Amino acid sequence: MHVYAIGMRDRFRAITVREGVLIRGAAGWGEFCPFSDYTDTECAPWLAAAMEAAELGWPAPVRSRVEVNTTVPVVTPERAYELVAASGCRTAKVKVADPRSSASDDCDRVAAVRAALGSTGAIRVDANTAWDVDAAVAAIGDLDRAAEGLEYVEQPCVTIEELAAVRRRVDVRIAADESIRRAEDPLRVAVAGAADIAVLKAAPLGGVRRALEVAEACGLPCVVSSAVESSVGLAAELALAGAIPELDFACGLGTISLLEGDVSTQSLSPVDGYLPVPERAPEPDLIDAVAAGEPARTWWLTRLDRVRLAAHGNGPT
Ligand SMILES: [Mg+2]
Repeated sequence: MHVYAIGMRDRFRAITVREGVLIRGAAGWGEFCPFSDYTDTECAPWLAAAMEAAELGWPAPVRSRVEVNTTVPVVTPERAYELVAASGCRTAKVKVADPRSSASDDCDRVAAVRAALGSTGAIRVDANTAWDVDAAVAAIGDLDRAAEGLEYVEQPCVTIEELAAVRRRVDVRIAADESIRRAEDPLRVAVAGAADIAVLKAAPLGGVRRALEVAEACGLPCVVSSAVESSVGLAAELALAGAIPELDFACGLGTISLLEGDVSTQSLSPVDGYLPVPERAPEPDLIDAVAAGEPARTWWLTRLDRVRLAAHGNGPT
C-alpha cells in the first residue's frame, strides 16, 4: 500500500492537494481516494471499487478507446482558453457557480472556451448543485448564450425534484451527477424525467460492475466521469467507459492534467482527445516522488482501516 499526495494545478472543489491510497492485489492496483469530507459510510463504495481493481479486475470492454472532454476549473478566461487549446479535446466541461466566481465571470470563462474550441466543439457546464430553480433557469439561459449553445448542464440543483423543474423550463439538456453518486441507493434513484443524461463514476458507485448495473437501471445515456484520481484510479473509470454498452458523449476522464504529477510514468493523458481503455491500472512506478508525508499518511491508513472494518461489520444481521 502506498499513500500519495499530488498538488492540483488549479484549485478544484476547494482542494489544492489530491491524496489517496494505492492498494495492490492479485489482479493489479486499485485506488482508494474519497474526498476528505466524505463519511466512512460514503467511503465504503470507494473501497469496493479499489478492491475490485486489485483483486478481481474488470469486465471485458466493448471499445478500445474513449473520447474525453477537458475540464476547466474556476480560472480566468485567459487560463481557460489556454487549457482548452492545449488539451486537443473537442469537448470541454466548465465549472460554474463556484462561490469564488460571479455569474458574469462564468459567462466570460465559457465564452473563452468557445473561442478556444471553435464552433464545432461541445461545451458542457457543471454547477455542482449550487443553484435554486430560478437561479438555475436564469444562469443556464445566460451561459447557453455565452457558449453559443451548451451540450448540457450538470447537476444545476440539489434535489431530483428541482432538476425536473429546471428541465421543464430550459431547452438545455440536464445531467445528473451528485443525485446518482451520493444517493443512498444509486440503483433505485429515479432520475428519468429529471435528467437527460446520467453521469457515472466507478469509484463512488462501488466499482465498474456496480456502475454498469446503475447504467442499466437508470435507463439514460451515460457519461463516465473521473473523481480526479491518479492514473491508477482513472484506469478503473476508463474500464467502465470501455465496458458500457452505449456511449454517445465524450467522457469526463481527461483529468490527469488537473494534477501536477502522477503515480505512474504511463500517465493516462489524452492524445487528440482520446484515452485508451486499459486492461489493468498502470504500475505506480513514480510513487516515491509523490509519496505523502506525515500526518497525511497515517490519516489515510487509519481511514482505510476504519472503512474496512465498517464494510466487514455490515455483514448479514
Ligand atoms: Mg459533476
